[in-house]
Amino acid sequence: MRYTPTEAKLMSELKQLRVIDAHEHLPPERLRLAEHTDALTFFRQYTRLIMFSAGLDEQTFMRMHDPELSLDERLAIFEKYRDLIRASSPARAAYIALEKFYGEEDVTRENFEAITGKMQALYRPGLYQKVLVEQCGIQVVLQNYPEMDYDDALLRPVPAIGIEGEWGSFPELAEKIIGGKHGFNSLDDYLDERAERLRRLKQRGAVGFKMNTHLYAEPDREAAEEVFRSLRSGERSWARPDVPNPMANYLTDRLLAVAGEVGLPVAVHTGVWGDFRQLDPKELIPHIACHPQVRFDLFHMGIPFVRDMGRIGANFSNVWLNMCWAHTLSPTMAANALDEWIDQVAANKIIAFGGDVRWPVEKVYGHLVLAREVVATVLGRRIDQGLLTWDQGVSLARMWFVDNPGKLYNVL
Ligand SMILES: [Zn+2]
Repeated sequence: MRYTPTEAKLMSELKQLRVIDAHEHLPPERLRLAEHTDALTFFRQYTRLIMFSAGLDEQTFMRMHDPELSLDERLAIFEKYRDLIRASSPARAAYIALEKFYGEEDVTRENFEAITGKMQALYRPGLYQKVLVEQCGIQVVLQNYPEMDYDDALLRPVPAIGIEGEWGSFPELAEKIIGGKHGFNSLDDYLDERAERLRRLKQRGAVGFKMNTHLYAEPDREAAEEVFRSLRSGERSWARPDVPNPMANYLTDRLLAVAGEVGLPVAVHTGVWGDFRQLDPKELIPHIACHPQVRFDLFHMGIPFVRDMGRIGANFSNVWLNMCWAHTLSPTMAANALDEWIDQVAANKIIAFGGDVRWPVEKVYGHLVLAREVVATVLGRRIDQGLLTWDQGVSLARMWFVDNPGKLYNVL
């Protein structure tokens, strides 16, 4: 990308910041090193969504990543979709990282083995230190991953708040409630266990909790008890949960109160996936208003509800606006929205970066470059227009990339 002189100057200034990465899904390094990695891993995450929209099915996608299959077959799948995704921002992040770490512009039949060899040499103990600290300049990563015993203080856990189960599934929660060793006799028993779990997680080093948005309905204990009872008796299945779900709403309300009591912020996934009407950040407004003691960190700019989300940040002092993943979903939307947010939201409320990466850790670098570009574009324009001085622009960037996430999660 070509930069204006002010953007170029800002890009080199932003490189000096020791970033707080406000959201990733990286496994503890020892677990990641036990997994297979090769050159196509660059196209494992997020480029996948664009490939799916182009018509790729899940099974064929898994074949593309199956190291047991012939390289010929795997690369034929990749080549069929590559040109369809090339102009997209997730692909751009992959290509930026590929070039930075391996000096290659693409994955081809000729260079697949050479890139894979270099990757496997990098994927040794010290991987995260080399990629995240030395190349990205990151000082702390806020992590959402089921296993939270990390090997060093670089990764700080933000585990699931536990409304749907550990990894976001209602059936999993239903199973726990209904029976086996996890069986609970009453909604209160279940709620006590969930609350106690949050207190334990804090003692084990959690610096926040994470939940998803749900369609809102007034928390109703009786309705929640009815759901609990019918799940236990088998009259109801949560393979297809009710929307809005009375039990999810009640649990959300109660667990938010516990998060407030233990004093940790709550990160909330908003927007993006599937039927995103159910992930509209506006659904959170009653929870935000009812729990003023809870600090909410709203993720992904609420894409595509970026404008609504800006207004939520402006209206509620207990809300932070987190741009994690948004730069890779659409840097154009992210830049336009950030510009609007500056108009109406206080500088201490915006969090600039999280990569949302699970597999190719080098891609955190690609996502970070996109984030710096978004911020440099918006601040650069305002500086050139005389709306901000250079120092004011740099100071905003420092707050967004470092101070705001650092203070919110108390990790500075
Ligand atoms: Zn995420």
